Amino acid sequence: MSFEHNIRRVVPYVPGEQPNQPGMIKLNTNECPYPPSPKVEEALKEMDAGQLRLYSDPTAAELIDALADRYGVDPAQVFVGVGSDDVLAMAFLTFFNSEKPVLFPDITYSFYDVWAELFRIPYQICPLRDDFSIDIEDYIRPNGGIVIPNPNAPTGLLEAVGNLEKVIAANPDSVVIIDEAYIDFGGKSVLPLVEQYENLLVVQTFSKSRAMAGARIGFAIGSRKLIRYLNDVKFSFNSYTMSRMSLAVGRAALEDEDYFQKITAKIVETREWTKRELAALGFSFPDSYANFIFATHERVGAERIFAALRERNIYVRYFKKPRIDNYLRITIGTPEQMEALISALRDIVK
Ligand code: PMP
Repeated sequence: MSFEHNIRRVVPYVPGEQPNQPGMIKLNTNECPYPPSPKVEEALKEMDAGQLRLYSDPTAAELIDALADRYGVDPAQVFVGVGSDDVLAMAFLTFFNSEKPVLFPDITYSFYDVWAELFRIPYQICPLRDDFSIDIEDYIRPNGGIVIPNPNAPTGLLEAVGNLEKVIAANPDSVVIIDEAYIDFGGKSVLPLVEQYENLLVVQTFSKSRAMAGARIGFAIGSRKLIRYLNDVKFSFNSYTMSRMSLAVGRAALEDEDYFQKITAKIVETREWTKRELAALGFSFPDSYANFIFATHERVGAERIFAALRERNIYVRYFKKPRIDNYLRITIGTPEQMEALISALRDIVK
């Protein structure tokens, strides 16, 4: 007999590669091209390594208070984790505990089905329309929970708050998670709805708009009841999720609202410039509200363009999956990086 029959076997999520070539242009994992706020660097410099012998605050109180302040909610409505991946995983484990299927789009963040498989949560995917928009009616039927990213990834499409509210209001018996990883690039958040709907959990991250993917800080805001249940599961799993470093830098980043506004506005401006240039080269794409564009070319195949860009040391993301295997997901970098991308593409698709 083999011990292997007792093993929980999973097909893991595959993160975008993290190459480290000199001079490369890295537009493949939706990171921010700018450094975090200078206040983050100050906080790191002020850190006393001697303090690391002590555990971090398991309640992450100071970071949670700063988030509550920034988003105008009570600290009892805020939860933090090791990136929004950790927050989402805890939320799946906590809230999706039904025999009925959890619903999410077919083209979406490819971690959702991985968590569902890992936690043995039944799920059903709801195909997006041909233009990649969400058909809200798909989410108005019996279910064990709902997760929708807004803007969606990898399409970048933004759903109107009113439509999402219909889904939240129609499902008082399940938890609706809105994954707002990319909301700070011009989208309108459903956050104000948490006061009205106890079943709504909004998840956001410091990884994109606060330029801190490497610090691993994500958070959720919802009703006191949801946050209490989420904490019960978290404290049954790992009490000290947030290190002293991440608590300190997270707090520091929240102190610099001006910097946050400045870099997100800059990325939006560069995104709009990139859309015009891509369109001029024969690319089409859903109208992105995120820090990436999901583009397909009228003549040249995405896989070929992906490989040709890579040869030029420009990394973008390609998913060899049904319906999207002729698209490239291109993260918005600095204006200079995007100019280099456009110039390479001009050469590749000519
Ligand atoms: N949600 C979506 C839709 C994402 O694209 C990502 C980034 N991979 C995440 C959540 C997780 O990001 P992080 O764990 O860095 O907060």
